[in-house]
Amino acid sequence: MNTFRIKAYAKINLGLDVLRRRPDGYHEVKMIMQTVDLYDDLEFTKLAEDEIRIFTDKEELPADQGNLIWRAAARMKELYQISEGVSVKLTKRIPIAAGMAGGSADAAATIHAMDALFSLGLSLEEKQKIGVKLGADVPYCIMRGTALSEGIGEILTELPAPPQCHLVIAKPQISVSTKAVYGKLRVNELAPEEHPDIDGTMAAIKNGDLDGVIERLGNVLETVTVPDHPEIAEIKEIMVENGACGSLMSGSGPTVFGIYKDRELAEKACQALREADGGRLTRQVYLTEFYNRKKAR
Ligand code: ATP
Repeated sequence: MNTFRIKAYAKINLGLDVLRRRPDGYHEVKMIMQTVDLYDDLEFTKLAEDEIRIFTDKEELPADQGNLIWRAAARMKELYQISEGVSVKLTKRIPIAAGMAGGSADAAATIHAMDALFSLGLSLEEKQKIGVKLGADVPYCIMRGTALSEGIGEILTELPAPPQCHLVIAKPQISVSTKAVYGKLRVNELAPEEHPDIDGTMAAIKNGDLDGVIERLGNVLETVTVPDHPEIAEIKEIMVENGACGSLMSGSGPTVFGIYKDRELAEKACQALREADGGRLTRQVYLTEFYNRKKAR
Protein backbone atom coordinates (compact mmCIF):
# COMPACT_ATOMS: atom_id res chain seq x y z
CA MET A 1 0.00 0.00 0.00
CA ASN A 2 1.42 3.37 -1.04
CA THR A 3 -1.49 5.71 -0.39
CA PHE A 4 -3.94 5.82 2.50
CA ARG A 5 -6.91 8.12 2.99
CA ILE A 6 -8.57 8.78 6.33
CA LYS A 7 -11.12 11.14 7.84
CA ALA A 8 -10.31 12.99 11.07
CA TYR A 9 -13.55 13.74 12.96
CA ALA A 10 -14.20 16.69 15.27
CA LYS A 11 -15.68 16.43 18.76
CA ILE A 12 -17.98 18.47 20.96
CA ASN A 13 -18.43 18.24 24.72
CA LEU A 14 -21.91 17.39 25.98
CA GLY A 15 -20.55 18.27 29.42
CA LEU A 16 -17.26 19.71 30.63
CA ASP A 17 -16.22 20.04 34.25
CA VAL A 18 -12.86 20.90 35.77
CA LEU A 19 -12.32 19.29 39.17
CA ARG A 20 -9.02 20.80 40.28
CA ARG A 21 -5.72 22.27 39.22
CA ARG A 22 -2.85 19.88 39.86
CA PRO A 23 0.45 21.12 41.32
CA ASP A 24 2.10 20.50 37.91
CA GLY A 25 -0.31 23.02 36.31
CA TYR A 26 -2.50 20.47 34.48
CA HIS A 27 -6.22 20.50 35.18
CA GLU A 28 -8.17 17.41 36.16
CA VAL A 29 -11.24 17.25 33.97
CA LYS A 30 -14.47 15.28 33.74
CA MET A 31 -15.89 15.61 30.25
CA ILE A 32 -18.42 13.91 28.01
CA MET A 33 -16.85 13.67 24.56
CA GLN A 34 -18.96 13.18 21.44
CA THR A 35 -17.70 12.76 17.88
CA VAL A 36 -19.61 14.76 15.28
CA ASP A 37 -19.93 14.24 11.54
CA LEU A 38 -17.60 17.08 10.60
CA TYR A 39 -14.16 16.03 9.43
CA ASP A 40 -10.83 16.83 7.82
CA ASP A 41 -9.63 14.66 4.92
CA LEU A 42 -6.06 13.39 5.05
CA GLU A 43 -4.26 11.57 2.25
CA PHE A 44 -0.94 9.92 3.07
CA THR A 45 1.54 8.79 0.40
CA LYS A 46 4.80 6.97 1.06
CA LEU A 47 7.99 8.73 0.00
CA ALA A 48 11.32 7.10 -0.75
CA GLU A 49 13.04 10.11 0.85
CA ASP A 50 13.28 10.33 4.64
CA GLU A 51 11.03 13.40 4.85
CA ILE A 52 7.63 14.52 6.13
CA ARG A 53 5.91 16.88 3.71
CA ILE A 54 2.58 18.51 4.52
CA PHE A 55 0.36 20.26 2.00
CA THR A 56 -2.65 22.05 3.42
CA ASP A 57 -5.44 24.18 1.95
CA LYS A 58 -5.31 26.56 4.95
CA GLU A 59 -2.51 29.10 4.77
CA GLU A 60 -2.65 29.84 8.49
CA LEU A 61 -1.68 26.27 9.42
CA PRO A 62 1.99 25.38 9.77
CA ALA A 63 3.33 22.75 7.35
CA ASP A 64 6.36 21.88 9.47
CA GLN A 65 7.08 20.76 13.06
CA GLY A 66 4.35 23.17 14.20
CA ASN A 67 1.70 20.89 12.70
CA LEU A 68 0.47 18.02 14.86
CA ILE A 69 0.40 15.80 11.77
CA TRP A 70 4.16 16.36 11.38
CA ARG A 71 4.78 15.61 15.05
CA ALA A 72 2.66 12.43 14.99
CA ALA A 73 4.34 11.16 11.81
CA ALA A 74 7.82 11.94 13.19
CA ARG A 75 7.02 10.12 16.45
CA MET A 76 5.83 7.03 14.54
CA LYS A 77 8.93 7.07 12.32
CA GLU A 78 11.18 7.29 15.36
CA LEU A 79 9.35 4.63 17.42
CA TYR A 80 9.20 2.08 14.60
CA GLN A 81 12.46 3.00 12.82
CA ILE A 82 10.71 3.84 9.57
CA SER A 83 13.32 5.15 7.13
CA GLU A 84 10.88 6.01 4.37
CA GLY A 85 9.07 9.34 4.42
CA VAL A 86 5.50 10.41 3.98
CA SER A 87 3.67 13.14 2.15
CA VAL A 88 0.34 14.32 3.62
CA LYS A 89 -2.41 16.27 1.89
CA LEU A 90 -4.74 17.90 4.44
CA THR A 91 -8.17 19.24 3.49
CA LYS A 92 -9.14 21.19 6.61
CA ARG A 93 -12.84 21.56 7.47
CA ILE A 94 -12.82 21.46 11.28
CA PRO A 95 -12.72 25.03 12.60
CA ILE A 96 -9.20 25.85 13.84
CA ALA A 97 -8.48 26.74 17.48
CA ALA A 98 -12.16 26.33 18.16
CA GLY A 99 -12.60 23.77 20.97
CA MET A 100 -13.34 20.93 18.54
CA ALA A 101 -10.00 19.09 18.86
CA GLY A 102 -9.17 19.53 15.17
CA GLY A 103 -5.41 19.25 15.65
CA SER A 104 -5.79 16.24 17.97
CA ALA A 105 -8.09 14.53 15.44
CA ASP A 106 -5.46 15.02 12.72
CA ALA A 107 -2.76 13.59 15.01
CA ALA A 108 -4.97 10.58 15.77
CA ALA A 109 -5.65 10.05 12.05
CA THR A 110 -1.90 10.22 11.38
CA ILE A 111 -1.22 7.45 13.91
CA HIS A 112 -3.91 5.26 12.27
CA ALA A 113 -2.51 6.05 8.81
CA MET A 114 1.15 5.35 9.64
CA ASP A 115 0.07 2.06 11.27
CA ALA A 116 -1.78 1.06 8.09
CA LEU A 117 0.79 2.34 5.55
CA PHE A 118 3.72 0.63 7.22
CA SER A 119 1.79 -2.50 8.35
CA LEU A 120 2.65 -2.06 12.03
CA GLY A 121 -0.39 -3.96 13.36
CA LEU A 122 -0.80 -1.75 16.45
CA SER A 123 -3.70 -2.19 18.87
CA LEU A 124 -5.98 0.70 19.83
CA GLU A 125 -4.30 0.85 23.26
CA GLU A 126 -0.82 1.05 21.74
CA LYS A 127 -1.95 3.86 19.46
CA GLN A 128 -3.49 5.72 22.43
CA LYS A 129 -0.23 5.46 24.42
CA ILE A 130 1.63 7.08 21.54
CA GLY A 131 -1.15 9.67 21.18
CA VAL A 132 -1.19 10.94 24.75
CA LYS A 133 2.38 12.25 24.33
CA LEU A 134 1.11 14.45 21.49
CA GLY A 135 -1.89 15.90 23.31
CA ALA A 136 -4.41 15.08 26.06
CA ASP A 137 -7.34 14.71 23.60
CA VAL A 138 -5.48 12.48 21.11
CA PRO A 139 -6.28 9.14 22.86
CA TYR A 140 -9.98 10.01 22.68
CA CYS A 141 -9.69 10.99 18.99
CA ILE A 142 -8.09 7.59 18.34
CA MET A 143 -11.10 5.78 19.83
CA ARG A 144 -13.91 8.23 18.84
CA GLY A 145 -17.62 7.93 19.60
CA THR A 146 -19.13 8.80 22.99
CA ALA A 147 -16.89 8.68 26.05
CA LEU A 148 -16.27 9.94 29.55
CA SER A 149 -12.86 11.54 29.73
CA GLU A 150 -11.10 11.95 33.07
CA GLY A 151 -7.63 12.66 34.45
CA ILE A 152 -6.06 15.18 32.08
CA GLY A 153 -8.16 13.60 29.33
CA GLU A 154 -6.34 10.28 29.04
CA ILE A 155 -8.65 8.11 31.21
CA LEU A 156 -11.44 7.09 28.88
CA THR A 157 -14.63 5.13 29.46
CA GLU A 158 -16.71 4.28 26.42
CA LEU A 159 -20.41 5.19 26.61
CA PRO A 160 -23.31 4.16 24.39
CA ALA A 161 -24.30 6.54 21.58
CA PRO A 162 -26.91 9.11 22.64
CA PRO A 163 -30.14 9.30 20.62
CA GLN A 164 -29.56 11.02 17.26
CA CYS A 165 -30.50 14.66 16.75
CA HIS A 166 -29.58 17.61 14.51
CA LEU A 167 -26.64 19.74 15.53
CA VAL A 168 -25.95 23.29 14.49
CA ILE A 169 -22.34 24.28 15.06
CA ALA A 170 -21.15 27.89 14.79
CA LYS A 171 -17.80 29.52 15.47
CA PRO A 172 -17.82 33.26 16.15
CA GLN A 173 -15.21 35.44 14.45
CA ILE A 174 -12.98 35.49 17.51
CA SER A 175 -10.04 33.44 18.75
CA VAL A 176 -9.53 32.16 22.26
CA SER A 177 -6.45 30.36 23.52
CA THR A 178 -7.11 27.10 25.39
CA LYS A 179 -4.15 27.84 27.66
CA ALA A 180 -5.43 31.31 28.51
CA VAL A 181 -8.94 30.02 29.29
CA TYR A 182 -7.67 27.35 31.69
CA GLY A 183 -5.22 29.88 33.14
CA LYS A 184 -8.05 32.26 33.97
CA LEU A 185 -10.33 29.60 35.49
CA ARG A 186 -10.51 29.81 39.31
CA VAL A 187 -11.69 26.29 40.09
CA ASN A 188 -11.71 26.86 43.85
CA GLU A 189 -13.93 29.92 43.57
CA LEU A 190 -16.71 28.25 41.57
CA ALA A 191 -20.11 27.84 43.21
CA PRO A 192 -21.32 24.21 43.36
CA GLU A 193 -24.10 24.98 40.83
CA GLU A 194 -21.49 26.14 38.30
CA HIS A 195 -20.23 22.57 38.00
CA PRO A 196 -22.26 20.57 35.47
CA ASP A 197 -23.89 17.29 36.49
CA ILE A 198 -21.65 14.96 34.48
CA ASP A 199 -22.85 11.82 36.31
CA GLY A 200 -26.45 12.78 35.48
CA THR A 201 -25.52 13.27 31.81
CA MET A 202 -23.89 9.84 31.75
CA ALA A 203 -26.99 8.24 33.28
CA ALA A 204 -29.19 10.01 30.70
CA ILE A 205 -26.97 8.77 27.85
CA LYS A 206 -27.14 5.20 29.20
CA ASN A 207 -30.95 5.50 29.38
CA GLY A 208 -31.23 6.84 25.82
CA ASP A 209 -32.76 10.00 27.30
CA LEU A 210 -31.88 12.93 25.01
CA ASP A 211 -33.95 15.39 27.08
CA GLY A 212 -31.96 14.38 30.16
CA VAL A 213 -28.73 15.15 28.28
CA ILE A 214 -30.09 18.50 27.08
CA GLU A 215 -31.29 19.52 30.58
CA ARG A 216 -27.80 18.98 31.95
CA LEU A 217 -25.71 20.61 29.19
CA GLY A 218 -22.98 22.51 31.02
CA ASN A 219 -19.42 23.69 30.44
CA VAL A 220 -17.55 25.20 33.35
CA LEU A 221 -15.23 27.05 30.94
CA GLU A 222 -18.14 29.28 29.86
CA THR A 223 -17.63 31.09 33.20
CA VAL A 224 -14.37 32.39 31.70
CA THR A 225 -15.19 32.87 28.01
CA VAL A 226 -18.75 34.20 28.04
CA PRO A 227 -18.04 37.35 30.11
CA ASP A 228 -15.03 38.12 27.86
CA HIS A 229 -16.74 37.35 24.54
CA PRO A 230 -20.43 38.34 24.30
CA GLU A 231 -20.49 36.76 20.79
CA ILE A 232 -20.70 33.33 22.45
CA ALA A 233 -23.85 34.24 24.40
CA GLU A 234 -25.26 35.89 21.27
CA ILE A 235 -24.87 32.70 19.22
CA LYS A 236 -26.43 30.63 22.00
CA GLU A 237 -29.36 33.02 22.11
CA ILE A 238 -29.93 32.92 18.33
CA MET A 239 -29.83 29.11 18.45
CA VAL A 240 -32.44 28.95 21.21
CA GLU A 241 -34.66 31.64 19.62
CA ASN A 242 -34.63 29.48 16.50
CA GLY A 243 -35.77 26.27 18.14
CA ALA A 244 -32.69 24.72 19.79
CA CYS A 245 -33.62 22.49 22.73
CA GLY A 246 -30.27 23.43 24.27
CA SER A 247 -26.95 24.99 23.33
CA LEU A 248 -23.46 25.02 24.78
CA MET A 249 -19.90 26.11 24.08
CA SER A 250 -17.60 23.22 23.14
CA GLY A 251 -14.27 22.71 24.91
CA SER A 252 -12.50 25.99 25.63
CA GLY A 253 -14.50 27.58 22.83
CA PRO A 254 -15.36 29.72 21.12
CA THR A 255 -17.43 27.25 19.02
CA VAL A 256 -21.04 26.80 20.14
CA PHE A 257 -23.40 23.94 19.28
CA GLY A 258 -27.17 23.78 19.40
CA ILE A 259 -29.27 20.58 19.63
CA TYR A 260 -32.41 20.35 17.48
CA LYS A 261 -35.05 17.67 17.17
CA ASP A 262 -36.51 19.22 14.03
CA ARG A 263 -34.33 19.48 10.91
CA GLU A 264 -36.26 22.40 9.43
CA LEU A 265 -35.73 24.47 12.57
CA ALA A 266 -32.03 23.59 12.50
CA GLU A 267 -31.80 24.78 8.88
CA LYS A 268 -33.57 28.03 9.79
CA ALA A 269 -31.21 28.55 12.70
CA CYS A 270 -28.22 28.15 10.34
CA GLN A 271 -29.69 30.85 8.11
CA ALA A 272 -30.35 33.19 11.07
CA LEU A 273 -26.78 32.70 12.31
CA ARG A 274 -25.29 33.41 8.88
CA GLU A 275 -27.31 36.62 8.60
CA ALA A 276 -26.71 37.84 12.17
CA ASP A 277 -25.02 41.24 12.48
CA GLY A 278 -24.88 41.54 8.69
CA GLY A 279 -22.87 38.31 8.43
CA ARG A 280 -20.22 39.49 10.90
CA LEU A 281 -21.11 37.32 13.93
CA THR A 282 -20.07 34.01 12.35
CA ARG A 283 -18.84 32.81 8.97
CA GLN A 284 -18.52 29.18 10.02
CA VAL A 285 -21.91 27.51 10.47
CA TYR A 286 -22.46 23.77 10.03
CA LEU A 287 -25.48 21.49 10.18
CA THR A 288 -24.43 18.02 11.27
CA GLU A 289 -25.16 15.19 13.72
CA PHE A 290 -23.48 12.81 16.17
CA TYR A 291 -21.05 10.33 14.60
CA ASN A 292 -20.86 6.98 16.36
CA ARG A 293 -19.81 4.48 13.77
CA LYS A 294 -17.32 2.16 15.41
CA LYS A 295 -14.78 1.72 12.65
CA ALA A 296 -11.52 3.64 12.98
CA ARG A 297 -11.68 4.72 9.32
P1 ATP B 1 -8.90 21.58 21.44
O1 ATP B 1 -10.36 21.39 21.29
O2 ATP B 1 -8.12 20.30 21.59
O3 ATP B 1 -8.52 22.65 22.43
P2 ATP B 1 -8.72 23.42 19.34
O4 ATP B 1 -9.89 23.23 18.45
O5 ATP B 1 -8.84 24.50 20.38
O6 ATP B 1 -8.37 22.07 20.03
P3 ATP B 1 -6.87 23.10 17.19
O7 ATP B 1 -7.73 23.39 16.02
O8 ATP B 1 -6.53 21.70 17.44
O9 ATP B 1 -7.45 23.77 18.52
O10 ATP B 1 -5.55 23.96 16.97
C1 ATP B 1 -4.93 24.75 17.93
C2 ATP B 1 -3.60 25.25 17.37
O11 ATP B 1 -2.80 24.16 16.96
C3 ATP B 1 -3.79 26.13 16.15
O12 ATP B 1 -3.44 27.43 16.49
C4 ATP B 1 -2.89 25.56 15.07
O13 ATP B 1 -1.95 26.49 14.56
C5 ATP B 1 -2.12 24.42 15.73
N1 ATP B 1 -2.17 23.19 14.89
C6 ATP B 1 -1.15 22.39 14.65
N2 ATP B 1 -1.48 21.38 13.85
C7 ATP B 1 -2.78 21.55 13.54
C8 ATP B 1 -3.70 20.82 12.73
N3 ATP B 1 -3.33 19.73 12.05
N4 ATP B 1 -4.95 21.26 12.68
C9 ATP B 1 -5.34 22.36 13.40
N5 ATP B 1 -4.50 23.09 14.13
C10 ATP B 1 -3.23 22.70 14.23
